[in-house]
Amino acid sequence: MLLRGATLLTMVPGASPRRCDLRIIDRRIAAIGELTAEPGEAQVELNGRTICPGFVQGHVHLCQTLFRGQAEDLPLLDWLQTRIWPLEHGHDQASLRKSAELTLREFACSGVTSFQSIESVRGTRYILEEIAATPMRAIVAASLVDLDEAIYPPGFASSSQEALDETEALQADWDGFEGRIEIAYGPRFLLSCSEDLLRQLGQRRAAGARIHTHASEHPGELAAVEARFGKRYIEALADFDLLGPSTGLAHCVHVDPHEEDLLVQSDTAVLHCPSTNLKLGSGIARVHDFLRRGLRIALGSDGAPANNRLDMLTELRSAALLQKLVAGEAALSAEDALALATREGARALGLGDECGTLEPGKSADLVVFDLEDPLLGEEASPYTKLVYAASRAHITGVMARGEWILPA
Ligand SMILES: [Zn+2]
Repeated sequence: MLLRGATLLTMVPGASPRRCDLRIIDRRIAAIGELTAEPGEAQVELNGRTICPGFVQGHVHLCQTLFRGQAEDLPLLDWLQTRIWPLEHGHDQASLRKSAELTLREFACSGVTSFQSIESVRGTRYILEEIAATPMRAIVAASLVDLDEAIYPPGFASSSQEALDETEALQADWDGFEGRIEIAYGPRFLLSCSEDLLRQLGQRRAAGARIHTHASEHPGELAAVEARFGKRYIEALADFDLLGPSTGLAHCVHVDPHEEDLLVQSDTAVLHCPSTNLKLGSGIARVHDFLRRGLRIALGSDGAPANNRLDMLTELRSAALLQKLVAGEAALSAEDALALATREGARALGLGDECGTLEPGKSADLVVFDLEDPLLGEEASPYTKLVYAASRAHITGVMARGEWILPA
């Protein structure tokens, strides 16, 4: 297939926007440049529309999308205990499938082609079947919750062995599916896991397993972690050997300088969810400082009840504006913000060889925008238009692994 006459934001470092053609063969980008159609090759004329790499959504919960608008104006621990855990516990196969289907439809309309999620304690296989029916790339974890305390609905938690068995059964069935699905371990957060389970997960991480969890999100959660472990959140994760290049930590809002050093030394990835951090009153992650220290960062929306939009354009804009508030007006330019949702997000998830930039050999994951709307600023750069002014209404096509999930 030949996409003709587009303005490409390749997100390759140092590359400027340029008008050219893009050829796709066998789900991959085969060539970029001034190209002539081969005999019989399908062509799509894009008339100057703008293409960027497909968005990489670093932290989300497909199982929560049905609960949008049902958990409002609560701090994190109350939000989980009184609303989210009981709602998750009420899921059945049909509701899990519906929640996943709604999420995937929203991703298709908003440019997401790869994502990383933590699902509930049970039923993740139904979510995986819905993902498998799309061409998207996903790293999925079941929640590991093995502390059967009064804060959970009766029957929500499992034993440590059941928790590990659930993930390992998913790995046996789904890891490597079409080269695009990976199963991670998803300890829900420190407060949901026994020390025995955390130690076993640390051993698996040291042997190469991927860990996806929440960390240092809200002051109330931090106080509970310090009361239980006698140390700060990231220090406790380090003690259980849970930091490392295959670990992704959602939030990292309240991280002191020593914890920041631990993240840098271990090359742990940060999954930044600016809208959710605002809505739950958690705080603002110091993304500008993290980037200066060389941390890998992906952007995420988190679940629909914590955000109410699963929209990477909202997260791009929020991420850029918040860093200007805390680190000055020059912090996180539009181009840098777009990189977090594409190239840097892919790197943070360990997908940098596969997606995140538009280059020959990479997966054909891309978003087509119509940025000719004068309300976006006629003389503005495409990065500025896309990050500060555009909405999903300006997305006119989305391709995941060479298939249109929103037809251009
Ligand atoms: Zn989350």
